[in-house]
Amino acid sequence: MGWVEELSEIVEVFSPSDAYAYDETPPLIAPKPVQNFVVVKPENANEVSAVLKFANRRKISVFTRGGGTGLSGGAVPTEEGIVLSTERMTGLEVDRENRVAECGAGVTLKQLDDAAFKNDLSFPLHPGAETATVGGMIATNAGGVRALKYGTMRNYVLGLEVVLADGRILELGGKTIKNSSGYSILHLLVGSEGTLGIITRAKIRLFPQLRDMTVLAVPFPTMDNAMDCVVEISARMLPLALEFMEKRAVEIGERVSGEKWVSRDGEAHLLMVFESFDEADEAAKIAQNFGAIDVYAATTKKDRDRLLRVRGLIYEGLRKDIIEILDACLPPAKIAEYWRRSNELAEKYGVDIITYGHAGDGNIHQHPLIYDGWEKSYFEFRKELLKLAVSFGGVISGEHGIGAVKTSELREFFPEQFDLMRRIKLLFDPNNILNPGKVVGKI
Ligand SMILES: Cc1cc2nc3c(=O)[nH]c(=O)nc-3n(C[C@H](O)[C@H](O)[C@H](O)COP(=O)(O)OP(=O)(O)OC[C@H]3O[C@@H](n4cnc5c(N)ncnc54)[C@H](O)[C@@H]3O)c2cc1C
Repeated sequence: MGWVEELSEIVEVFSPSDAYAYDETPPLIAPKPVQNFVVVKPENANEVSAVLKFANRRKISVFTRGGGTGLSGGAVPTEEGIVLSTERMTGLEVDRENRVAECGAGVTLKQLDDAAFKNDLSFPLHPGAETATVGGMIATNAGGVRALKYGTMRNYVLGLEVVLADGRILELGGKTIKNSSGYSILHLLVGSEGTLGIITRAKIRLFPQLRDMTVLAVPFPTMDNAMDCVVEISARMLPLALEFMEKRAVEIGERVSGEKWVSRDGEAHLLMVFESFDEADEAAKIAQNFGAIDVYAATTKKDRDRLLRVRGLIYEGLRKDIIEILDACLPPAKIAEYWRRSNELAEKYGVDIITYGHAGDGNIHQHPLIYDGWEKSYFEFRKELLKLAVSFGGVISGEHGIGAVKTSELREFFPEQFDLMRRIKLLFDPNNILNPGKVVGKI
């Protein structure tokens, strides 16, 4: 790495360490990091620009890293090069009059939430781990449990400051809620996973604070009952969250949280969150009409938190035992049928999958458990499973991104789009220095 000395004349350079080599992608599926990388921690767009001008001239790869909570290996350095961490870009101001947070890319979700709250506003999404950064959430178009009512990260990005591969600094959008001013380069950057440019600042839309919440916990005898209920409720109102869990997922959530769910009976369970008690009341009646075993309403904070913890800790209980967490997104009314067909496919391959997810928006999290000899058959199963999701009109990732782990499926299932994406990538980054190998694969 003969270029490191030259780089250190531009910016402070840090030695590589594991803290910058991995993200939260489950280890069996995660890309292997290289050892020959260095870390830089620029403080602003000008410093990022200087690093990129140098890297572009010398054709050195740059891997942008936010909080490292990604689940697709996007931030992992997979070639010799530079890891550019946004951890020092933490400026954060709230413009209350215009309901906008102006954030450095390295501001965390928790910091954004707290700043909004202090200003009597809210950032209504909860699109990632609390240490995820604004830059990372934008770069993956993160979603989370409130997407049904409040959309995904894309719906909150009003403005971006972005540094292109050749070091040019672009200002996109602003504080306006509407923008019909030609092609949206801003929205091309949302979900670009560090391959088109480096986001250094963002203007994020804020909302009024959420009203009181009512949580319903509802076990159903079958997945079909539960999903028919979801379809009907979603046609009548927009819950803040509408989550489903298969029975085993509930049991894991109970074990890890130490909390008790309402019942262990039933194949499928719904957790619904409403901002209005009247809606919760109507939803409870609908649930009863669709064969609910029981309808439990939690109105106190303590009770609500207990139920939310059961759902919230399932992944924690599963993470050591899984090959990965899949996140296909389907037309919501197809979930029950897809779930059944997935289980049939899994049985054929001898794979055991545990499933829960965002029933209201169709984003389903499937967790294949590790089994002996998984390397031999798993990838074929995985491809069949994602193909099944696409055959239902779905997409292969609803919120975690393509990163390093789904490029071949993106290419195979969406060849025309993949080709266009590659051409766009090369238009932004002709030397392919930004996160090479990710999203659109090796070029
Ligand atoms: C416990 C847990 C819960 C999670 N829950 C959710 C959830 O509910 N919903 C959801 O959508 N995701 C969830 N995630 C996944 C993860 O939190 C999101 O993908 C998040 O958006 C990643 O942000 P990050 O800052 O950690 O990004 P990183 O992991 O650091 O990077 C992710 C990608 O973004 C790129 N990137 C990062 N910063 C920038 C930047 N400034 N400019 C350009 N590119 C950049 C990286 O190169 C990489 O490709 C969860 C993860 C964990 C571990």
